[in-house]
Amino acid sequence: MNRDDIKSLLHKNDLRATPVRYEVLEVFSKKEEALSNRDLEDRLPDFDRVTLYRTLQSFIDKSIIHKIPGDSGNALYAFSFDEKTVYKEDSHIHFQCINCGKLECLPGFEIPIPELPSGYSMSEINMIVKGKCEKCNA
Ligand SMILES: [Zn+2]
Ligand SMILES: [Zn+2]
Repeated sequence: MNRDDIKSLLHKNDLRATPVRYEVLEVFSKKEEALSNRDLEDRLPDFDRVTLYRTLQSFIDKSIIHKIPGDSGNALYAFSFDEKTVYKEDSHIHFQCINCGKLECLPGFEIPIPELPSGYSMSEINMIVKGKCEKCNA
């Protein structure tokens, strides 16, 4: 995504185009892998944690970024691709590589919805598939 794309994305979501919003979206839109709070802090050392956290939260509220529950209790975040996939965070499969550790979205690969016993209802579903990623298999 270039600066104009980011600008129009912010505009469409009624978010003011501030420097931190630009930077955060730029980081996310370049990466196909999910990032933790920590990764974001490391990549954007010029902003304090609270600002980054708030920025992230505003993007989550607008479904620009979605949250992926990680193994260790640390949430990861990933960019929500296109308008079509807006965005149930729980609609697609996530893949974690056991070799390089990268966690990525597999957009277009939907989570199969299980049938539940009667009397149960589902509010959320997540699926992380583990294995070796394309790069590590090559
Ligand atoms: Zn890998
Ligand atoms: Zn995802």
